[in-house]
Amino acid sequence: MTALRSSVSSRTTPAEQGELDTAYAALAIRERLLPIKVPAFYQRKLDEEAAALGHTEGPLHRMVRPTRERFGAAAGGEVPDWVDDRANMPVPGSRAIIHKYADRVLFMPTSVCAGHCQYCFRQDVLTDAHAEGGDLKGLAAEVDRLTAYLGTRPEVSEVVLSGGDPLTLSLRDLALVLQGIRTVPTTRSIRLHTRTPAFAPKIFGDDKKLDLLAEAEVRLVLHFAHPYEICGEVAEVLDRLDRHRIRLYNHFPLLRGVNDHRDVLARLIETLDDHRVRTLSVYVPEPIRHSAPFRVTLDRFFALQDELTATTPSWINAVRFTLDSPVGKVRREHVVARDRTAGLVTFEKAGQRFVFPDFPSELDIPGDLDTLLWRG
Ligand code: SF4
Repeated sequence: MTALRSSVSSRTTPAEQGELDTAYAALAIRERLLPIKVPAFYQRKLDEEAAALGHTEGPLHRMVRPTRERFGAAAGGEVPDWVDDRANMPVPGSRAIIHKYADRVLFMPTSVCAGHCQYCFRQDVLTDAHAEGGDLKGLAAEVDRLTAYLGTRPEVSEVVLSGGDPLTLSLRDLALVLQGIRTVPTTRSIRLHTRTPAFAPKIFGDDKKLDLLAEAEVRLVLHFAHPYEICGEVAEVLDRLDRHRIRLYNHFPLLRGVNDHRDVLARLIETLDDHRVRTLSVYVPEPIRHSAPFRVTLDRFFALQDELTATTPSWINAVRFTLDSPVGKVRREHVVARDRTAGLVTFEKAGQRFVFPDFPSELDIPGDLDTLLWRG
């Protein structure tokens, strides 16, 4: 196959990308990865990017289409489910309820997303769900299980809706979920994680979904990972969300070849701030299977944090640089030991320790700025 045989120093042409996509389809079935899914809206951005660069290794492509690296590079310690979702499903018969932190519960009302991200850290759980048919069976019954469970856990003050992407639900199903949660008096906050505004802003064609989100006082956490995702059409949706007084946040992973440069991070956070979206966190990409093309070393992750801190105003450098882990969210101050020879970093939080397999520095080839910000 031409693309896979090509030298890594040469860039993938659009024609070669077609061959990569075909090869990836087989890999995805074999390795239980998410298939390629690119909505028409996002594809137009990919076409523009490929036309400008003359290849398909730009940041937007890397997020949704496979690169040659997806077939090769692997790093030690990769696992299927880094955050251990399956070990935290407390309700028998339900795969939609995950309870890891005392004060909040995660509810996954769907495994469907508007597009598929190559870097998705929940591929393992999602591909299982897709094998069972995609959308959650018996949503009403799952909402009943959730509300019953919340009734036994008054310490839970927040429900986090994720998935899949909850904004792909029909208006009726989204209302069912939100209204069900609001019947629980101890739930003070509903947080909804989504990439739908980036992938398919047209779902906000009329105001009905916005009205529903506003009525439930939802906090919307968007997952923009590159400034070029916020084009005029997306910005208009953000402004409409803001006019509906919906609180907007962003968090995203630091992704090699996508946003692993101070200028890209600053541009992304600044652009979001222009639309009243507050960025909360930048995440270490998790060491799941086939994640090597996106991963960076912890040293580089923290160096980028320092660079942002030194060179940007406080509303940008107040963003937290975080690692999601089996013992919760940890940061640099939780590092208690490093074995540089073995590439292992030990974190400790609230008396619990875990060992993180750092990404090998020889594989951590930074994205070049001319490609990352190809529009200049
Ligand atoms: S939208 Fe989120 S859940 Fe869906 S594929 Fe992308 S990262 Fe994964």
